[in-house]
Amino acid sequence: MALTFYNTLGREKTEFTALKPPVVGIYSCGPTVYDYAHIGNLRAYVFADLIGRVLRRQGFQTHHLINITDVGHLVGENSNGEDKVEKKAKADHKTTKEIVDFYTQAFFVDLAKIAIDRRQFEFPKASDHVADQIELIKKLEAKGFTYQTSDGLYFDTSKYPAYAELGKLDLAGLKEGARVEKNPEKKNPSDFALWKFSRPAETRQQEWDSPWGIGFPGWHIECSAMSMKYLGEHFDIHTGGIDHISVHHSNERAQSEGATGQPFVNYWLHTDFLTVDSQKMAKSLGNFYRLEDLENKGYHPLGFRYFLLSAHYRSALNFTWEALTGAETAWQRLINLAREWKSQAENISGKISVDYQKKFNSFLDNDLNTPQGLALIWDMAKDSNLSPVDKFATLIDFDTVLGLQIAEHLNNEKISTEITLLAEEREKARHNKDWAEADRIRQELADLGYEVLDTETGYNLRPKGQI
Ligand code: AMP
Ligand code: ZN
Repeated sequence: MALTFYNTLGREKTEFTALKPPVVGIYSCGPTVYDYAHIGNLRAYVFADLIGRVLRRQGFQTHHLINITDVGHLVGENSNGEDKVEKKAKADHKTTKEIVDFYTQAFFVDLAKIAIDRRQFEFPKASDHVADQIELIKKLEAKGFTYQTSDGLYFDTSKYPAYAELGKLDLAGLKEGARVEKNPEKKNPSDFALWKFSRPAETRQQEWDSPWGIGFPGWHIECSAMSMKYLGEHFDIHTGGIDHISVHHSNERAQSEGATGQPFVNYWLHTDFLTVDSQKMAKSLGNFYRLEDLENKGYHPLGFRYFLLSAHYRSALNFTWEALTGAETAWQRLINLAREWKSQAENISGKISVDYQKKFNSFLDNDLNTPQGLALIWDMAKDSNLSPVDKFATLIDFDTVLGLQIAEHLNNEKISTEITLLAEEREKARHNKDWAEADRIRQELADLGYEVLDTETGYNLRPKGQI
């Protein structure tokens, strides 16, 4: 069956065709690293991860970027708001670099816990690409898309006729203050800053010279500049949460197509929200949890991944502890079943069931229908016509897409007491700040085929080569 995606542009399911097969270029809007990601944000990245896995299963290679926003994202997404990273640095008496490095690292730790393998992505940082952003703005200026106000250089959205298309926006009916902020100098409510001037009264840690004055890039331009730099001016897939459709992605598209005069992205895919009591989980609403909050309550991050996969990405998913418990139980049951299936014939390797595989692929290829994929596993579990070892092989095959780390889990269970004791000894040495001893034991473990990953809460021990 052909691979089909629901394209926000056009609002319909369409068959996927790659621009330059076998490589597929994907850009997923990433975190602003001024704070920890919440589990709602993580839904967007599990979705980004899933689409990459499905494409690779289809034989494509993915060139996938997740950007790290470390400058220009303003509080309230408002051109007069404070820069989120600068604000946090000031509040914590830290440098912006310290803030950015700390929360980027915390983001990577979260990704690893939910089986998102960093090696499948590149993570370009906005502040490393200011020259590219300036070049792109210069192109827009030369083509007459910009105008200057007292606080920056703006994109004139009325000059890009297709502006309303992606967000199905009613531009005539747009009221400032609702979707867009009040700014008397703007020509149109939907216009947005490409370059912001540093305010004379304010000392910014991150600012650059530009043809328009000292300042910093607006938030939207980084995604246009970095995606086109690495994926080409016209690439395959762009993802993000549905909150990005009407502003951030509409702006990205306008800037990119304005500058190049050609289509920017072929498939726009958006994931719906993780909600709490039907409201979007958001920092500003104070109704959010971090992955660590879940772990502190005894949940496994992969139970959370199962929870996310149990809903289709285009449906809102309501977070409750009961629902998370249900998902974690299901994930544990899968591991138990897998252990049982495998143990029935330790030395015989099973065969992947072609019938089940076909069905599974058809569900995932049909706009990434993970709930149907998971339901199929439970059907298979009940199927008395399939041998346990074949069930095991089939499940492990499906797991290359689902990322529930079933095989890894079973392998980890095999870690002997000797290895565990060594890891504990190393943890004790680390606790006593005896780094030489900790390194020595790390090497000893490596020689025995195991690696330790230090986490905020302790360490993970696993056979080498696993995520
Ligand atoms: P931000 O750091 O706010 O720019 O968000 C990072 C990513 O998370 C974006 O793709 C957002 O659309 C997405 N996002 C934010 N809140 C939620 C939520 N409650 N559910 C799902 N995705 C979200
Ligand atoms: Zn973006």
